[in-house]
Amino acid sequence: MGLGTGFVYDERYLRHRPGEFHPERPARLEAIVNRLRETGLMDELVRVTPYEAPLPWVERVHEPAYIKRFQEACRKGMSIFMVPDCGICSESYDIALLAAGGVMAGVEAVMQGLVKNAFCAVRPPGHHAERNRALGFCFFNNVAIATVYLLENFRLSRVAIVDWDVHHGNGTQHFFEEDPRVFYLSLHEDPHTCYPGTGFRQEQGRGAGRGTTLNLPLPRGSGDQEYLQALEKEGLPALRQFAPEFVLLSAGFDAHQDDPLAHQNLSREAYRTMGSLLLELARESADGRLVGVLEGGYNLTTLADCVEDHLRLLMAA
Ligand SMILES: [Zn+2]
Repeated sequence: MGLGTGFVYDERYLRHRPGEFHPERPARLEAIVNRLRETGLMDELVRVTPYEAPLPWVERVHEPAYIKRFQEACRKGMSIFMVPDCGICSESYDIALLAAGGVMAGVEAVMQGLVKNAFCAVRPPGHHAERNRALGFCFFNNVAIATVYLLENFRLSRVAIVDWDVHHGNGTQHFFEEDPRVFYLSLHEDPHTCYPGTGFRQEQGRGAGRGTTLNLPLPRGSGDQEYLQALEKEGLPALRQFAPEFVLLSAGFDAHQDDPLAHQNLSREAYRTMGSLLLELARESADGRLVGVLEGGYNLTTLADCVEDHLRLLMAA
């Protein structure tokens, strides 16, 4: 029997409470987990236990002073951190460490050959978090920390990060824009009409990293055809040329037509197609190593649908 698919989850992820009416709410993960229980999928997944990311790894990505400031804000019982949309509670710091460590545990399980691929149902999300700034519901950049872990602990030399969240992953791009070992591909809604206002085509990386950042912004109202065309015609050829040894997926499901936070029109099927295309890429150069990491997705039913589909693809891979 072949290896299974890893699933990173911990009930403690529900303890990050950004505020009563905040869209990035614990119910998002409850919807996913309930779906996996109802369908029996949970029993077929290999549970991977997350741990709090060790500070030395977090500090490879975020400034120690920023980390401290976040910890203090939580300890003092503040209700927001740095920007109004980054709501916190007293436990947010610990849970954010557990989210970053969850993704580390996920990539570790794949690298150690315990599972063939994995999905990390973690929160808070990470792709907007900058070196010294919390932004857009994000505090620690989970995917960036896991990428550094892959490069430095597992000595990989080419990691691809594919970010199909409807919002541009400004934080992730900025960490690696001068690093030729990391290819950052993002498909997102046009920065003119959508948060965070970065991710223009001309942002292509800098210095030695020029050419390993590829932004494919799509006009407001784009649907399956526009997304699949951008991925197949431009994204995948560039990724194939890069030949990643590992594929990390910033998996936001907020470009779905029923998502309340953006203005794109993707169907559930489009996410399935994009998922299989990325698995094919991972098979070609990365021995199938792909780890999906939850970012956005704010319609609970849609989110559960898309994560269920994505997990089925990973399991069948
Ligand atoms: Zn998003």
